[in-house]
Amino acid sequence: MSEQDCIFCKIVRGEIPSRKVYEDDQILAFHDINPAAPVHFMIIPKKHIASLGEAEEEDRDVLGRIMVMTGRLAREQGSTDGFRTVVNTGRVGRQDVYHLHVHILGGDKPLPGMIHKSK
Ligand code: 5GP
Ligand code: ZN
Repeated sequence: MSEQDCIFCKIVRGEIPSRKVYEDDQILAFHDINPAAPVHFMIIPKKHIASLGEAEEEDRDVLGRIMVMTGRLAREQGSTDGFRTVVNTGRVGRQDVYHLHVHILGGDKPLPGMIHKSK
């Protein structure tokens, strides 16, 4: 999948609309189109990195930035008492979109023990 065809790169470029949560020079956060919890958004690097399995040393800074933004953005979205981060990776991890993304899932109530895909 090239950056040209990647749907999350298209969202970064504004070619596909998204409900934006946060943006800076390195990262973008937007709501998941098919939420699995009352609060469900994703944080992505603007740079195309196919998956966590393909992250490299040079990606350390942007991945660190994503992680340190999770708490603030989760609280701002109303997940004030905790949240879950999920990074599906590769075939075994059941990744659907091959542009690295961190899911943030939360809300008022405790989540199920684990969130898993039905199919
Ligand atoms: P994955 O299964 O790769 O971890 O997660 C991909 C996520 O991207 C899914 O939860 C799916 O609902 C979401 N998604 C797929 N296409 C779009 C889109 O065009 N816009 C938004 N906002 N989310 C999308
Ligand atoms: Zn991409």
